[in-house]
Amino acid sequence: MNQRARLDPVPIPFIDVAAQRRRLGRSVDEAIARVLGHCQFILGPEVRALEAELAAFCGARHAVTCASGTDALVLALMAQEIGPGDAVICPSFTFTATAEVVALVGATPVFADVEEASFNLDPESLQRACAAARELGLRPRAVIPVDLFGQPADHDRIASIAAAQELFVLDDAAQAFGATYKNRRLGTLAPATATSFFPAKPLGCYGDGGAVLTDDEELAQVMRSLRVHGEGRGKYDCVRIGINGRLDTIQAAVLMEKLKIFPEEILARERIARRYSAGLVDVATVPRLAQGSTSVWAQYTIRLAPGRRDALAAALKSQGIPTAIHYPTPLHRQQPYQRFPIAAGGAPVSERLAEEVISLPMHAYLDAMTQDRIIAAVRRALGR
Ligand SMILES: *Cc1c(COP(=O)(O)O)cnc(C)c1O
Repeated sequence: MNQRARLDPVPIPFIDVAAQRRRLGRSVDEAIARVLGHCQFILGPEVRALEAELAAFCGARHAVTCASGTDALVLALMAQEIGPGDAVICPSFTFTATAEVVALVGATPVFADVEEASFNLDPESLQRACAAARELGLRPRAVIPVDLFGQPADHDRIASIAAAQELFVLDDAAQAFGATYKNRRLGTLAPATATSFFPAKPLGCYGDGGAVLTDDEELAQVMRSLRVHGEGRGKYDCVRIGINGRLDTIQAAVLMEKLKIFPEEILARERIARRYSAGLVDVATVPRLAQGSTSVWAQYTIRLAPGRRDALAAALKSQGIPTAIHYPTPLHRQQPYQRFPIAAGGAPVSERLAEEVISLPMHAYLDAMTQDRIIAAVRRALGR
């Protein structure tokens, strides 16, 4: 063995899409080949078949697939005719797309804080955000709770505030497709649930993709029209202003194969998360699941005392172990979003989390030996 090989441990991938690809083997190739055979690349038969399977998987009546998780959010907001003068409440501790779509349709994102334990939308801050919007002369029309890192938001409490404030709830489940809240899969806990099939999400395709789940027949129909330029009865009958937001048939074919192994992958993710928590609970703040919720563990994210994160990341990196910061800056502090309103009291929890969280490698194919190497390295770096 040469010196280099001995010093540099084998690098570990943060999310191992290649391991899943090996497991799926020929089935995905064959599914793609079938599409290449029939050549219906846009809204082909696999798209409809996938929509039926996604809806059944969540217990929702309709699934409307689309080009990305971002488009899923856009389609739902457009279908609700949310626009200028309207306020949409978003948590500040999330991926940019959650608030971006609100600004894109011409409405005003109003930021709320998140809860310390779950990292998800704080219902009290949601109330204050509605008040802030009204004081500015905006109409609060909707709220976008995010099921961050795979764990459902507090949907019952959010639904009751939404009912009192007359808000439409658009659940951003981009990271949480397959997670459950009080024994129900996300997809029916809000009037509309958006998800993403970006490759690194728990259920990912081989490109961009997304879907909206809903029980509302009319909403589903409007979104089906919106994703094809607002078409009406026929191709050149235009009844509303829409977008080009369809899911490719090839991606639908890929997703049908991946959906078959997804329940097993969720169990593997749960097992891996439990193992991480058992190995790290005495050295870091490990993720806390609300009672009655399951997570699909899009990320396994720990929290450290202030100032310790950079040293941990550097120590792990030197041992071939990647980490990621989701997210280093809360949205209300990002330059293009600084001009938007925020709930009274600001978002201090989002600000603290942005400084203290760090995510470890997480995917369904993380084997016990590799995981032990990661756990040992974290413990060593944190001086235990
Ligand atoms: C990934 C993600 C999105 C956007 O999904 P894309 O498919 O990448 O457009 C939206 N919201 C959250 C919380 C996400 O993590």
